[in-house]
Amino acid sequence: MGKLEILRCEWCGREIQRRSRGPAPRYCQVSCRVAAHRARRATAAIRIELQAAGATHEPVVHADPPPRTSADEQVARAFVEAKSLAGIFARLGSEARPALAWRCTHVAQALSSAIHETLGEEAGGGRPAPPTPADELERWE
Ligand SMILES: [Zn+2]
Repeated sequence: MGKLEILRCEWCGREIQRRSRGPAPRYCQVSCRVAAHRARRATAAIRIELQAAGATHEPVVHADPPPRTSADEQVARAFVEAKSLAGIFARLGSEARPALAWRCTHVAQALSSAIHETLGEEAGGGRPAPPTPADELERWE
């Protein structure tokens, strides 16, 4: 008699029937495994792009990604551009005349916080908590 074990799909949370042999399954079906993999890969790609963009301190010149670029890569590039724009607005917030400066500062803060919220970047250098499958579903579906 084995111990009672309830497994749940790491993507959708449905209960999984344990196979009699082999390692414990992590996903209830192939589509869940694929969805989880895509979300992990897309999140990693965006973080790498943002780190690269942050390291250079060069403004990103706006350009639509080539049409054949994968949707994941287009999302990553758009995030990089958004972060670059946030930097430009922040700078203008201290350089522009007061009537415009507060608007620039407001846009810079809104962009930065939206990027921070959606990617869970840690400003303090700590590690963000790993997203739960439900979080990732909300984020990518
Ligand atoms: Zn599932």
